[in-house]
Amino acid sequence: MFEEVKEELRTAICGFDQIIDAHEHLAPESERLAMTPDVCFLFSHYLIGSLLAAGAAAEEKQDVHGGNLRGFLMDTSIPFEKRWARIAPYLPAVRYTAYAEAMWRTLREVYGFDDLTPATIPAINEAMRLANKPGLYEEIIVGRCRIKYSLTQAGRTDYPERFLVPILPLGILCDLPERRETVEKRASERGMTAKTLPEYLDLCRATLVHLRDNERVVGLKMMSQPHAEPLSDAEAAAVYAKMMGRTAEDGEMWALQWYLRDKSVGLCGEADMTLAVHAGVWGDFRNLDPRHNIPLIERNPGTRFDIYHMGIPWVRDTAIMGGNWHNVYVNWAWAHIVSYYMTQSAIPEYVDFVPATKILAFGGDYGAQCVEKIVGHLSMAQENIAAALARMVVDRRMTVEKAIDLAHMWFCENPTKLYRLDRLG
Ligand SMILES: [Zn+2]
Repeated sequence: MFEEVKEELRTAICGFDQIIDAHEHLAPESERLAMTPDVCFLFSHYLIGSLLAAGAAAEEKQDVHGGNLRGFLMDTSIPFEKRWARIAPYLPAVRYTAYAEAMWRTLREVYGFDDLTPATIPAINEAMRLANKPGLYEEIIVGRCRIKYSLTQAGRTDYPERFLVPILPLGILCDLPERRETVEKRASERGMTAKTLPEYLDLCRATLVHLRDNERVVGLKMMSQPHAEPLSDAEAAAVYAKMMGRTAEDGEMWALQWYLRDKSVGLCGEADMTLAVHAGVWGDFRNLDPRHNIPLIERNPGTRFDIYHMGIPWVRDTAIMGGNWHNVYVNWAWAHIVSYYMTQSAIPEYVDFVPATKILAFGGDYGAQCVEKIVGHLSMAQENIAAALARMVVDRRMTVEKAIDLAHMWFCENPTKLYRLDRLG
C-alpha cells in the first residue's frame, strides 16, 4: 500500500510546473560559461563537506564551505588527474551521503552515467564541457526542473535571466566595514545624506524601495546569531555621531552594527520584503540555532521570517516556531540533501503543527559551478515529500488528492505568496 501511494504521489508531484526554487547561490549564466567544468566541480557544492569530514584535507585549515580544497578542486590550471586523485580515496566514505545522492541522480538524469569509474570519468568530463553553452541555465532550471523562479543569493542583482530573482544580504544595510566612508558612499548612490542616524535609517528605507521596485529584490538574508540586547535609539545615535567624527571605538562599532541589524529586520517588513534566515548545519552550529531569532520575531510582528534548512538539527524547534508565530515560515531548502531521512521523518510533524500555508518545500542551494545538481536535488525533494505524505495517507490522515494539494502549496503557491512573486510580472 505505502509503495503504491508513494509512487502515485511522486508521479503527481514530479508533474508540477511553475515550481519556486526558494534558495540558490547562482551567479548569472555567463559566469558558469566562463568555467571549464569537470567531475571535480560536482563535489564542490556541498559534497565537499562530506569529503572534509572524511579527512580529505585534515592537514589544512579549512572554512566550513570547503575553503582551500574547494579552490583546489575548481582550479582547472591544475591537471584533472591531480585534482581527482584528492577525491578518489574518499569516494567509498562519502558515496552514500545525501549530498552524494544528489550528484548520482544528476549524473544519471542529466548526463546519463551511473557511476564515477576510470571508464566513465573522461566521458562525463566531455559531456559536461559540451553541455556548458548558452542556454544551459534555462535548460536545467526551466526546462528539466520546470521551475518558474529561482530565488538566488550571490550578492548581486544584474541577472539577464528573468527566472533568477535576487535576495541580498541584510548586511547591505547594517554592515559598516569602512564606517563613515561606507555610509557616505551609500548615501551618494541614492543622492541622499546620512549625517545622522535618523538620516541613515531613511537612506536604508529608500534603498529597500529602490531594490524592490527597480532591481527585483524580493528579500534580504541574515544568519541566525546568539541574541544580545541592542543599544537604545539614543545610545545608537551617539555612537553614530562618534563614527562620523572618526572617534568610535571597535566595541562601539560592533554595538552600532548590531543595533542596525535589529532595525533592518523591521525595515525589511516595512518594505514588504521577506527576511530569509540561515539556521543550522555549518561548523560550530550552536551559533546558528534558529531559536536565537525568537526575540527579533516577537519584536517585529510585521516582518516575515523565512527560517531556512529546517533549522537542522533543530528540526522540531523550527516546527514549533512555525506553529507559534504568525510571522515565521519554514523553508526546507537544502534540508533534503543534508539529511534526506531526517527531513522525511520531520515532515509529518510539520503537518501536525505548522499551518500548511507557511511551508516551502524546496531550494537547491547551489552555485553556478554545479547548477545541474538542482536536477538531482529536486528529484530527491519530490520523492522525499511523496514518501512523507504517503505515510500520512496510509495512516488515513488525508486522501491522495489532499496530499497532492498540500505538496502543490509547498512547491508553488506558498513561496509565491511569501515572497510576493506576483509583483515581478
Ligand atoms: Zn545557501
